[in-house]
Amino acid sequence: MIQPNSFITVTIAQRFPDQPDLSMPTDPLLLNNLVLYCRPGFEKECASEIMEIMTQSNVFGFIKSKPDSGYLVFCLHTATAIQTLNQSFNFSRMIFARQCILAAELIKNLPNDDRVTPLLDEITKLNLTFKEVWLETPDTNEGKELNNFCSRFSKPLHNALNKKACIDAKSEWRLHLFFITSSTVYLGISHIDNSSHLVMGIPRLRMPHSAPSRSTLKLDEAFNIMLTEQERQDLLRNGMTAVDLGAAPGGWTWQLVNRSIRVTAIDNGKINQTLMDSGLVEHIRADGFKFAPDKPVDWLVCDMVERPLHVSRLIARWLGKGWCKHTVFNLKLPMKQRYQISLECKQLVEDALIAAGMKYEIRMKQLYHDREEITCIVLTH
Ligand code: SAM
Repeated sequence: MIQPNSFITVTIAQRFPDQPDLSMPTDPLLLNNLVLYCRPGFEKECASEIMEIMTQSNVFGFIKSKPDSGYLVFCLHTATAIQTLNQSFNFSRMIFARQCILAAELIKNLPNDDRVTPLLDEITKLNLTFKEVWLETPDTNEGKELNNFCSRFSKPLHNALNKKACIDAKSEWRLHLFFITSSTVYLGISHIDNSSHLVMGIPRLRMPHSAPSRSTLKLDEAFNIMLTEQERQDLLRNGMTAVDLGAAPGGWTWQLVNRSIRVTAIDNGKINQTLMDSGLVEHIRADGFKFAPDKPVDWLVCDMVERPLHVSRLIARWLGKGWCKHTVFNLKLPMKQRYQISLECKQLVEDALIAAGMKYEIRMKQLYHDREEITCIVLTH
């Protein structure tokens, strides 16, 4: 709600029932940009997505983006729009954004000999304390070249922020310095409940030695990023059952077996022998589009390289017939209309769930380990 003075209390309405109301006492005039980090090459998709979200909420602005830059900026037309923006924006619902920060105008020409002083001036204007401070860059080769600079700059910046009492472990806000070059930076903030909890929105997952393919990291990331801690405990339990369509050589099956879940692996290709030796895997050489389980399973996972609408129809059939309770599937996106196709796929699955009278949640995300693809999770209740 807007207060009758120059400072405005911004309430971020959360549509996820388990998230609290978030209030931000700061001047919206300072933060009139939404900077979204994404996979380089997906700026257009991320732009279409944020434009649609904002338009639905009557928030008007324009996009600034460069192909392959790994980020884009949604610039708000009016300062008051930021309140509406916060009421409508829910980070976890975004498919193509890895992170989203509310940011001030791009700061340019930071002096080489003292970047701290001008930055500190801007940071103190925000009138907030921060739980943590992240120095970040776009996920590009140019961005990677700034890693050393960011590590070196981190200490003097933290020291200065500590001296000004800007750091407070109890704060619900995070400060981001998103460096485009070593002298050009977006200064932004995110609320800890409405943003990625990962620096640059990128998880650092370890490739398990015994997993048969790097694809294993996609399912690991999906479970870690797209499920809550409680859901991981409740829904990935010892003794559960799963079908893995397009399983070979077994990276996704490995993640399930590692959680003591029994897997029927469908693929004409060979499944890794160590996985087979676990005693938890049955390998069936069959067409994943024709296979039907003898009895319902807890999870269907699917990583077949096929047209996304074709895969979505298959998933819709499994859910509609009650062959699985939950599913994780990957949609390989075409070169064009990738956002549009993602929405069509979502609609197709939702239609089947609605027709079957089921309660459900659909989550879609382009994960760090996804390339030209996105990952979808459907949970039914
Ligand atoms: N998820 C696997 C892993 O982590 O090791 C990698 C899967 S790979 C990207 C795709 C697999 O889908 C291939 O092994 C391919 O044989 C299989 N596949 C493609 N079309 C299929 C179909 N119609 N039926 C069964 N498997 C299929």
